[in-house]
Amino acid sequence: MPRRRNMPVVVVFCAILSLTSMAQKPASRVLAPSEFLKFEVGADRKLADYRQIVSYFKALAAAVPDRLELETLGKTTLGEEMIMAVISSPENLHKKARYQEIARKLADPRGLSQEQIDALAREGKTILLLTCNIHSTEIGSSQMAMEWAYKLVTAQDEETKRRLDSSIVLLVPSLNPDGQIMVTEWYRKYLGTKYEGGPMPYLYHHYVGHDNNRDWYMLTQVETRNVNRAVYHEWFPQFWLDEHQMGFYGPRIYIPPNADPVAKLVNPLVHRGNNLMGATMGWRLEEAGKSGVIYGYSFDAYWPGGTRNTGWWKNMFGVLTEVASARIATPLEVSPTELQGGAKGLITYEQQINFPNPWPGGTWRLRDIMDYELLVSDAALETVSKYRQEMLRGVASMAGQAVQTADANQFWRIPIDDQRDPITATRLAALMLEHGVEVRLAGDKKSFLIATAQPYGRFVEEMMGLQRYPEVKPAPNSGILEPYDVAAWSLPLMMGVKAEKVMLAPGEQQSATLLKQAPWPGGGLEGNGPYYSTPDDKNNVSALINAMQKAGGQAFIARPGNQSPVAIFAAHAQLAATAEKLHLRLQAVPALPAGAIQVKPLRLALYKSYIPSIDEGWTRFLLEQYGFAVKNVENKEVRAGNLNAAWDVIILPDSARDAVVEGKPGREGYFEELPPEYTGGIGKEGLRALRDFVEKGGTIITLARAADVLTGEEFNLPVRNVLVTGADKRPLPTSEFNIPGSLLRIDLDTKHPVAWGMPAEIAGFFDSPVAFQTSAPAPDIQRSIIAWYPEDARDILISGYVHGAERLERKAAAVSFTRGKGKIVMFGFRVQHRAQTEGTFQMLFNAIYWATM
Ligand SMILES: [Zn+2]
Repeated sequence: MPRRRNMPVVVVFCAILSLTSMAQKPASRVLAPSEFLKFEVGADRKLADYRQIVSYFKALAAAVPDRLELETLGKTTLGEEMIMAVISSPENLHKKARYQEIARKLADPRGLSQEQIDALAREGKTILLLTCNIHSTEIGSSQMAMEWAYKLVTAQDEETKRRLDSSIVLLVPSLNPDGQIMVTEWYRKYLGTKYEGGPMPYLYHHYVGHDNNRDWYMLTQVETRNVNRAVYHEWFPQFWLDEHQMGFYGPRIYIPPNADPVAKLVNPLVHRGNNLMGATMGWRLEEAGKSGVIYGYSFDAYWPGGTRNTGWWKNMFGVLTEVASARIATPLEVSPTELQGGAKGLITYEQQINFPNPWPGGTWRLRDIMDYELLVSDAALETVSKYRQEMLRGVASMAGQAVQTADANQFWRIPIDDQRDPITATRLAALMLEHGVEVRLAGDKKSFLIATAQPYGRFVEEMMGLQRYPEVKPAPNSGILEPYDVAAWSLPLMMGVKAEKVMLAPGEQQSATLLKQAPWPGGGLEGNGPYYSTPDDKNNVSALINAMQKAGGQAFIARPGNQSPVAIFAAHAQLAATAEKLHLRLQAVPALPAGAIQVKPLRLALYKSYIPSIDEGWTRFLLEQYGFAVKNVENKEVRAGNLNAAWDVIILPDSARDAVVEGKPGREGYFEELPPEYTGGIGKEGLRALRDFVEKGGTIITLARAADVLTGEEFNLPVRNVLVTGADKRPLPTSEFNIPGSLLRIDLDTKHPVAWGMPAEIAGFFDSPVAFQTSAPAPDIQRSIIAWYPEDARDILISGYVHGAERLERKAAAVSFTRGKGKIVMFGFRVQHRAQTEGTFQMLFNAIYWATM
């Protein structure tokens, strides 16, 4: 049983006279977190919220300004201040700029001799970035951060002083402050009721919930971008430790190394450094009598989407830890009979070499989580300070290898104008710049050029190239190890951008110029007329339609002579400026083309259940980004019916049918109930109301698994999902069919309004078991196949991993129905997955506009 740690007593600390400081500071009284906040931090049922945490860090920065400085990373989605504490010795903080410069040089050592690198490694300090609480219910580390900072700035022992002389700690107490506040407010509200410590009925990030740790190569959210800037443009830390929590019934803490499989392009030295870290963490945990420590478990070394993982391809060491959870701050009693394995690396809960000291069960509380986290935080600082020179040299050596092992004449070329959507092509170049990658503009200004021989060259290669998931088998005759998250992230494919690998002659290389920022295509109006026209094949055309509707203007779509669609805008005072802002060039036309259809303003609803759907958040984020006026509709309103009075379009985001209809988080077994106002789903009456909505002229768009809401007997549509089985629409077992997130070849009927402006063949992102088999309906229903998979399974995969692709052969990927006066569009593949699949956003936008036609 973990013992309870005594809280630190009040310490009166006299600021040590620093040799480099100009004058002796007055004695400062440094308060421990519990003393400052006036409750016992880490005690059962007690939580400091983010604003209290910030106030504590501000107090620390005021009390010991020569040991802890606060940096503001930026604002969060909901306007909180995102802070990062910089903790080190007074001498190091005084010379902070010099150490940042050294870190930057070692991250890009081109032009330095080995002697110069060695000299920088001797002079430099290791920079350790420790990030906490990205997942808001994983609350322990946000509390621990205060105690650890206090411990570091008040330590008088020689060992801590040595560590802080060797290293600079960057401590981010929460990577998602908005969610930290939501979770503490929810927890406090239901304290002492039967809902104490239970689930919240909404996402803990305003837009993306748990997926805030899936955003680190696409950088769509402000929190991600704030941290990305500090890491890859300002501080260049050599080591990133990200502290998480996991489930209730397994090991007590996961430490590095990761589980298999391993990404090919990551320099093996990354794993060696991570293993050093894991070894120290494991040692210190065992030494302190902490049981239940595991490595090589669950979390693979293949996927680049989460915090520190992205840094592996940029020559940075980085690990996560995962401590078992309590019920937020409420203790949990775990019976030995409830302990279980079940994940990669621990199939059954028993002693193994990677799990030598199983936890026997018992009470598990917030204090335990924080104690384990304090030990691994200390171990992290111990490791980076002990191996200071090795880590500094290691980063430089990996960056050097990335340059030397690539062909100096090899570049990724992204043509600028020769694209369906040059704006998205520029967005890809801008994203690479934001990642700290070198991007050049070709001498003829017709393409972006990205060298593979550069310090972040392996990141470039991973993001621009194709993925082939390594099929690693843990034992003879066993199945393969499954990916932790998705298996593909090829940005050009996801974004619908043409890119090719080319060899450039030295002359071409020399005429190219390094970009500081991406040059966006020019926009505005050409000529004078009552109308202005532009090809309707770019995502931003939808943004312009929405902006002009909002400004009281008129927008139309036409397909002159059944050719490529165009968008036409009536002359309006704000048209020129808006088109310019959106990088769109419009041509004056004397009249509307024949067959032009007005895109009328519409009332757009996005269904939101109380079993939070991350896809709901992403869809809301994306639609808002493009200026759609979208509002949420909840169960009660759906059940009440008469939906046509309020809405023209209802989008059902990806959710399991049971979550929508019954309000149940899973198919079977016990689940904790939410407070009464959040229970249940749309129910049978909601299903009837949705059918009624369509028959009276409404449009329903279903995303991925939400199709199953409409494929039941209540709707009686001539379609079934071939990847589920049984009346309860259970997915096929993964032994038969498994595509955990891959890019697939899909053909489109570009004459269908939902596919207007799209190419005939696309790379579609697939991660949910949804593919359609339609049949010929009675005359009251029309069905159309918008998108379908190739007829040979071998042609289906473009990037990622597929198992059982035969089941997709010749199946529909997106279908539509008209019934009564209304329409239904079902997307089986992920047209707007995590706001990453820019190449297919337009299909969602088209489906919305189709409702008004
Ligand atoms: Zn987590």
